[in-house]
Amino acid sequence: MSVTGDIQLRQFVDEVVIPAEPELDAGGGLALRELARGAGLWARPLPAELGGGGQSLADYLAVAEDEGRSDHGPDVVGSSSLLNVRMLTAYAQPELRDAVLTDLVAGRVHVSYAMTEPGVAGSDPSKLRTTAERGADGWWTVTGRKWFTSAAARADLVLVVARTGDGFSIVAVPAKGVRVERELDVLGAGGQHEISFDAVRVPSAHLVGEPGQGMRLAGERLALGRTLRALRWIGQAQRSLDLLADRAVSRALGDGVLADRQLVQRLAFEAELEVRSARLLTREAAALVARDERAPVEVSLAKVAAARALNTAVDSAIQVYGAEGLTAATGLPRLMRVARAARILDGADELHVTTTGQRLLTRRRAAPGR
Ligand SMILES: Cc1cc2nc3c(=O)[nH]c(=O)nc-3n(C[C@H](O)[C@H](O)[C@H](O)COP(=O)(O)OP(=O)(O)OC[C@H]3O[C@@H](n4cnc5c(N)ncnc54)[C@H](O)[C@@H]3O)c2cc1C
Repeated sequence: MSVTGDIQLRQFVDEVVIPAEPELDAGGGLALRELARGAGLWARPLPAELGGGGQSLADYLAVAEDEGRSDHGPDVVGSSSLLNVRMLTAYAQPELRDAVLTDLVAGRVHVSYAMTEPGVAGSDPSKLRTTAERGADGWWTVTGRKWFTSAAARADLVLVVARTGDGFSIVAVPAKGVRVERELDVLGAGGQHEISFDAVRVPSAHLVGEPGQGMRLAGERLALGRTLRALRWIGQAQRSLDLLADRAVSRALGDGVLADRQLVQRLAFEAELEVRSARLLTREAAALVARDERAPVEVSLAKVAAARALNTAVDSAIQVYGAEGLTAATGLPRLMRVARAARILDGADELHVTTTGQRLLTRRRAAPGR
């Protein structure tokens, strides 16, 4: 297809990104980024002074669902660096900011974020073992191991959450100090890596934020990070609903089509109900996050609702498709993989349920009857 400057984001994702998903899964598809640039879609929510589109966070959150109809969407249109750009803009030292930010927005440099470690419950980051020690010369020595570091194999810089004398800190480790131990096989897909740092020396200018601020900075990126991910899951859930409906109205069965059957109608209804409910919750969270609020209750409700809705929608679409729904050509197995991981990453659902339940009841205890 031809791609013009006024092509809409959703059309671009549906017509250009989704058909290329197998190629993108395999690490290819670089030419698609050029198409996105040519269409004026590149890095829209990133700051204009760094070469991005300067779109407001509120405006971006309103379209993140469309971009997220493919898990590769944000990467292809250059918005996947948003969380790292925001963190580095706010907290990196000038030397690192100048060296990295423009190239990061342009897609010439990639940054990964490494918090989770093998052998340590990601739900309890106070147990992280990776260390960063500051020497007399001010340089940091980073030692440890991380896993599920997304896209670490192509990263030029890894933001590592490490234990320092005064709590946890974030140190930006250049690629030459990162050993990629292996690519993890995640339900048959790649893209997640186990990496290690063997007494890697990192200059003092690579400390992000102040020493001991690591968990605060990590917490800060979570509200937007979770909301964005929930919006993208809603995008993929909607895509699943679309597939379900298209199949139901076209698959001949008996004298009619699948859509005539009440049990199929019910599958469509229940999935639609979950997706629309989750969308409303996610938009509520997005409106607060766009105003720079942490909104922990709203973000957790959105995260859990979006993960559940995606699971229901993909599973229902596969059921309506029958055996063909389990084959790669439909795209549904890829969506199912994202759906299953959604209940674990960005905080396992159980963590959101318990912390939010506690919050709600604590509020009530503090102000009974209101
Ligand atoms: C596709 C994918 C990409 C990821 N990308 C990154 C990345 O780029 N960088 C990074 O640092 N990490 C990343 N992660 C890791 C992710 O953040 C962790 O998986 C997550 O924090 C959960 O930690 P864990 O897997 O160690 O599970 P654990 O903390 O070991 O939890 C295991 C299970 O215990 C249960 N559980 C946990 N807490 C509670 C509770 N309070 N009450 C009751 N039950 C509970 C839940 O069922 C949970 O699934 C990624 C993960 C996936 C799947």
